[in-house]
Order: sequence, then structure tokens, then C-alpha cells
Amino acid sequence: MSEQCQNPGTHKFTWPGKYESYICDIHLPKLRMVANAMGVYIQIRPLPEDEQWQCQQISDARQSALRQGEGGGE
Ligand SMILES: [Zn+2]
Repeated sequence: MSEQCQNPGTHKFTWPGKYESYICDIHLPKLRMVANAMGVYIQIRPLPEDEQWQCQQISDARQSALRQGEGGGE
């Protein structure tokens, strides 16, 4: 298992047709870049103050951040 990011999430995002997750300020630009490169539009919303979630991304790998969605395919 990879290590999960320990940062508090600041945004909630939806990967279309796959999953919703939470993300921190550090991973957000990376997620945007990956989505951009794949031509995928992701919905990103600021996390409301009354919702507290940890970032769900994997801390050491830029691309395996997407793995948790599974259901793969190019
Ligand atoms: Zn993070």
C-alpha cells in the first residue's frame, strides 16, 4: 500500500462517472494537470468549513492518485 497524504483536504472533487474525493492544496494543481492531460473535466468545489476530510491522494506518486478510482482503461 502506498502512503496517503496527511494534509487536510481543502477541496472536494468529482472525477466524472467514477468517484468523489477530497484533496489538499498541494495535490490540487497536480490533479488538474493530470485531468487536463487526459482531457477530463473534473468538478472541484471548495470544502465547506463544517466539513473536515483528509486529503485522499497518495503522497508519493503523482499518477497513482488516480488509481483509487479503479475501473481503469485508457
Ligand atoms: Zn494531498
